[in-house]
Amino acid sequence: MTDIKSLTLSELQEEMERLGEKRFRAGQIYSWLHEKLADDFQEMTNLSGALRERLEQEYELIRLPLVKVQTSAQDGTSKFLFRLGDGSVIESVLMRYHHGNSVCISSQAGCRMGCRFCASTLDGLKRGLAPSEMLDQIYQIQKWSKERVHNVVVMGTGEPLDNYDALLKFLKLLTGEGGLHISQRNVTVSTCGIVPRIRQLAEEKLQITLALSLHASSQEKRETLMPVAKKYTLSQVLDACRYYFEQTGRRITFEYSLVSGVNDREEDAAELAALLKPLNCHVNLIPVNPIKERDYVQPDRRKVINFKNSLEKSGINVTIRREMGRDIDGACGQLRRSYMDTEKKR
Ligand code: SAH
Repeated sequence: MTDIKSLTLSELQEEMERLGEKRFRAGQIYSWLHEKLADDFQEMTNLSGALRERLEQEYELIRLPLVKVQTSAQDGTSKFLFRLGDGSVIESVLMRYHHGNSVCISSQAGCRMGCRFCASTLDGLKRGLAPSEMLDQIYQIQKWSKERVHNVVVMGTGEPLDNYDALLKFLKLLTGEGGLHISQRNVTVSTCGIVPRIRQLAEEKLQITLALSLHASSQEKRETLMPVAKKYTLSQVLDACRYYFEQTGRRITFEYSLVSGVNDREEDAAELAALLKPLNCHVNLIPVNPIKERDYVQPDRRKVINFKNSLEKSGINVTIRREMGRDIDGACGQLRRSYMDTEKKR
């Protein structure tokens, strides 16, 4: 059955023609799905009973059931586990900031990129998510919280550029008119650096922010943390980032997870500053979230601040990522993983 929530308005119009319905029905259905966030065809009360029946027979309406929510007592951050149609589970996060609510979504069930410090990749990739499955994480969270979602970051489990076509469609449905219509400037896509896809995305000329997971200032060190760096070298990645900026005018965000004794030395900061100085960018420092399968540890606070100061001295824009929801398996992929572990034991 066709996944109706993954269809664009013009695809939906073609579907209505195929069913012998009036074209304007497509707009009504689109609004029920993407604006009013209907979970059931029966909610679509401006359609005839007969058409609702027909839709039920012909289309699948993806709605992600919520398996579990955990809310941080420290900062109100909530983590959600959703179940997909095939039984896999994915996680999403709602972060409450002064400037509005931000949702972090998964783009794949699992991941095949193999970054050493990341829990999401330990069991490999199950599959990429459909546009509807990415959207519905946001829709269900907005309905659950009864508050509008302002920002979306594609930084949960998975490599979004490894699920490129679905990602692009998702971005169009999310930011286009007639749906939640979130401004492209309020959407961030984070990648480990799939060079050809960064270039392809640049040519779409969207106004979304690209976040690049850098984590090291030299090719050798990046390879030890991120296997993908062997395929796409640091210099190729930085060239692609420059290209993204040229094509879109959007400043790149570089993510740098600080790991004690690995990439947090004064020399690392100096090397990083030299590398990024020529670029129009922003650096986001993230003290690594320790996962039990690896022995990576966070630098102490003073070291993190020194690292920041040292980049700032070279005129680089830096923020230290506030760690939210540490008390609720906040680190990437940990909630999903601990859930899958207990399921396996059962
Ligand atoms: N695959 C994409 C998006 C998902 S990961 C990417 O690689 O960018 C989102 C960010 O969290 C990435 O920068 C990733 O490197 C980082 N990350 C993953 N596990 C982490 C951990 N344990 N501690 C700190 N950052 C982590």
